[in-house]
Amino acid sequence: MRVGIIDLLSMPASHWVEVPYRFLMTKQYASLMPQAIAVWCRQLVHEVFYATYYGYGDPTEALPPDLDVLFVSSFTHVSPLAYALAKLYAKANTLTVIGGPHAKAFPDDCLRFFDLVVKECDKELVADILAHSFDKKTLISSSHPLQDIPTVEERMPYLRQSVFLRGRRYPATTIPLLASTGCPYSCDFCIDWNSAYRPLPTDQLETDLRYIAKHLPGVRITFHDPNLATGWDTVLAVLEKIPSGSRSPCIVESSLASLKKEERLRRLRDTRCSFIGVGIESWRGYSGKAGAGSLQGAAKVPRVVEEFRLLSEYVPYLQANFVFGLDMDEGEEPVEATKEFMSQTPFVWPAVNIPQPFGNTPLFTQWRKEGRLLKTMPFYFYQMPYLVSLPKHYDPMEYYEKVIELQAHATSGEMLRKRLASTRRWDVRALNIIRTLNIRNILPFFRKRLEDWRRDPQFLAFHRGETDVLPAAHERILQRSLGNLSTLLSRSDLTPLLPACG
Ligand code: SF4
Repeated sequence: MRVGIIDLLSMPASHWVEVPYRFLMTKQYASLMPQAIAVWCRQLVHEVFYATYYGYGDPTEALPPDLDVLFVSSFTHVSPLAYALAKLYAKANTLTVIGGPHAKAFPDDCLRFFDLVVKECDKELVADILAHSFDKKTLISSSHPLQDIPTVEERMPYLRQSVFLRGRRYPATTIPLLASTGCPYSCDFCIDWNSAYRPLPTDQLETDLRYIAKHLPGVRITFHDPNLATGWDTVLAVLEKIPSGSRSPCIVESSLASLKKEERLRRLRDTRCSFIGVGIESWRGYSGKAGAGSLQGAAKVPRVVEEFRLLSEYVPYLQANFVFGLDMDEGEEPVEATKEFMSQTPFVWPAVNIPQPFGNTPLFTQWRKEGRLLKTMPFYFYQMPYLVSLPKHYDPMEYYEKVIELQAHATSGEMLRKRLASTRRWDVRALNIIRTLNIRNILPFFRKRLEDWRRDPQFLAFHRGETDVLPAAHERILQRSLGNLSTLLSRSDLTPLLPACG
């Protein structure tokens, strides 16, 4: 059969200023599982077409029009594009299948457009799909936890098509790897909150690292594990098997609590860990994974600053992730504490996020029960800089002012100077400049939303949950982003079918 696999990383860019970022950063978000599916389909002797879409060009031309089966992976905010493609290919009698984060969060909505929705996937499940073993309009999942993924060598054709540029590696290239699935923590906003931590066999990781060292020397690797928290020592032991002169710089997500031991930090430095993303989330919660014990609020800041200082002696690029506007956030404290943290740690990139209530999370269930979700807000808006829920302790306008205050502080001229002075590495400086400029590009969008709120009573009424009628300004944003795809999707297609709560 002719099988197409597309990994949707972004909606089409709506302004040229977004394009460089798509090439430098978004392109590198390519997921491992669509590449694995491509390998499995090839091993099952099908003709495979693989593509990623990172917001540049015409997404409907990424794959041939005459496919027998189409696999789509999509983030929630890119789901309008996924749905448009499903409708387009359904007209050609293609069997359409969706997996990935959006399918996991909102399977019922996906079933409106796709024949099959996949929760967890493995080679056996892909073989069954290709054998037409499932009834259409079904949610399916593999019967065993993932244990076996194709090697980097097997994925090379698809790596060339995704994280390379015109088939060649370039400075932004990063190779996705996986050492584990799931996470030992259960943060209420995260789609991995209830997936048990499971390490994958280490022999394959070693094979991949040796292949990369030999054939792609110097290219960065990125672990797509949700959180390497408890797997550090196992993974470090494998990384240490590669001769020190051949090790690739690597990127990981982890928790502060698992990065306290200096011995482990030394091993991280020696194995060339170059970027760690750490979830702090809120100053009033999630203290266990931050290793902050019972400390809360402003009292937690010095402890976290101290931990990052120690970490910065061993790892060149650090990122702290925050989710501002969770129910424990109230008043000025979270803003002041986060700004204080930013000022004291210019060597850490602060990623401040707006909470997104993804389906199948405790946060979604609670906010749905409390009537705090904007029910008619299309999934496109489940991304920065949009707000799709009613914050518990802030009026929407007040909340947005605070988000702007945080982002403006993070990207101020003074913070940029301090960031550039905090390192002598050109790559760290370059990345900080790119990310600062990217947020500065988004800031006018935030300010525009605030203006809309001030000017348009309907806009404010919608965001206070007083009406379900989508404001005209949101309609315009959506239509501009969809471009030609808007002819494929009706208003009701774009109105989410949110799961009921029990
Ligand atoms: S620690 Fe990270 S991956 Fe784990 S549940 Fe929390 S947010 Fe999700």
